Amino acid sequence: MAQQMIKGSCLCGQASFQIDMSFQAFKYCHCSRCRKATGSAHASNIFVLPEHFRWISGEKNITRYDVPEAMSFATCFCKICGSPMPHETRSGEQIVVPAGSIDDDPGQHPENNIFWKSRASWYLEPDEITKYDAY
Ligand SMILES: [Zn+2]
Ligand SMILES: [Zn+2]
Repeated sequence: MAQQMIKGSCLCGQASFQIDMSFQAFKYCHCSRCRKATGSAHASNIFVLPEHFRWISGEKNITRYDVPEAMSFATCFCKICGSPMPHETRSGEQIVVPAGSIDDDPGQHPENNIFWKSRASWYLEPDEITKYDAY
């Protein structure tokens, strides 16, 4: 059976990639490193096997940063627009894909929040605050 593929890309569009829909996991991570790396309340990460990921374009513009004191924390980003991009874990066992970079509907939802105890002191769950359809 053919695997279903979905596409992702960075803000400037130079970097793009394809992943197989068979995710290993989909999580929100509230750790302080993910907050720094994303500039947001939490990371939204999809985990796939390396054989289920491939670059389509712009791989040469991707920069990797490994946090020296971390066991495995790393981030990759487009050096033109700064968007977080997929990176291989140091073990090489998985690819961590920032869900916000996905262009298609992955048809799946996050399963859980990890490092919940480390969440930002200012964080509120979406249901706790007013929602507007635009600005
Ligand atoms: Zn870019
Ligand atoms: Zn994290």
